[in-house]
Amino acid sequence: MRQWEKHVRRVEPYVPGEQPREERMIKLNTNENPYPPSPRVEKALRELRADTLRLYPDPEAALLTQAVGDYYGLPREQVFVGVGSDDVLAMAFLTFFNGQEPILFPDITYSFYDVWANLFRIPYEQPPLREDFTLDPEDYYRENGGVIFPNPNAPTGLGLELSAIRDILDHNRDVVVIVDEAYVDFGAQSALPLIEEYDNLLVVQTFSKSRSLAGMRIGCAMGSPRLIRYLNDVKYSFNSYTMDAATLAAGAAAISDREYFRETVEKIVKTREWTKDELRKLGFSFGDSQANFIFATHQSCPARELYEALRREHIYVRYFNKPRIDNYLRITVGTDQEMAVLIDFLKTYLEK
Ligand code: PMP
Repeated sequence: MRQWEKHVRRVEPYVPGEQPREERMIKLNTNENPYPPSPRVEKALRELRADTLRLYPDPEAALLTQAVGDYYGLPREQVFVGVGSDDVLAMAFLTFFNGQEPILFPDITYSFYDVWANLFRIPYEQPPLREDFTLDPEDYYRENGGVIFPNPNAPTGLGLELSAIRDILDHNRDVVVIVDEAYVDFGAQSALPLIEEYDNLLVVQTFSKSRSLAGMRIGCAMGSPRLIRYLNDVKYSFNSYTMDAATLAAGAAAISDREYFRETVEKIVKTREWTKDELRKLGFSFGDSQANFIFATHQSCPARELYEALRREHIYVRYFNKPRIDNYLRITVGTDQEMAVLIDFLKTYLEK
């Protein structure tokens, strides 16, 4: 080891899902939307004048915070935006999880949480989910430095009732509670109506899934003006211009198109339910996902074997080699046609 390495901040990085670039593949491994973004996004990008890029973008990202605020009926002061919800969540960890007590999040959850906790030297504990992967609110009654969980959870897809979220909030009035709603639009109940009542509740969402903009990197957070002010203070202390001009325009255009959003989300939900039926017939079992993916295990064929067999067919799904979930596949819901190809392949493979 070199002397200077003593001063290096060493971290175990998050490993994002693979991004293969193949002409002919079925990509069901990173929960992207199979449909293009709203046509209004393309229009907004076409109308963007390159000359405006001379100037720094608006540090307040007013165009986008206003558009998100209009969508949810909130003033701009209650909206924060960032470079994907990963950026928003990282800022939120840095801002709100600054105490001595461990923060709490489930043992099976978005695998970025422990990475940020380690990066920022935040102590944490991970109460185990129940055997069926549901979350027990009572696990969050204990003393802690903050709480975060996704709803629906990743990678299980299981949603938490609003009453359970309220229960967690009622037992955590003195810390910040973050609900990561990356997949909420596909069927779970949003905690947004609770932000008026709980000024320590931050609701984080993304444009990467239900709004088909994973490639643009847009996330947002909604909460009390006080919470948002603290988040902005940290953001301005880190990088004032997180959102570029093209992204602001595209994001505002995307969220303005309610009809397109409703149609694509409806299609995905329909395809998800069809896929559940077909997987069940093939001997898979899974919880009742409310997200745009299904977290499934097969009665006889090991998940890793299926993952590799699918890969050879250029069908990409996600496999996590981790305790409790190493016999599961996380399958993103694609188009009807993509799911039909997946099911056909599994049928043939499992019959062998
Ligand atoms: N939260 C959860 C639970 C996720 O699964 C993801 C997607 N990897 C994110 C946040 C981050 O998504 P993005 O940065 O694209 O908004």
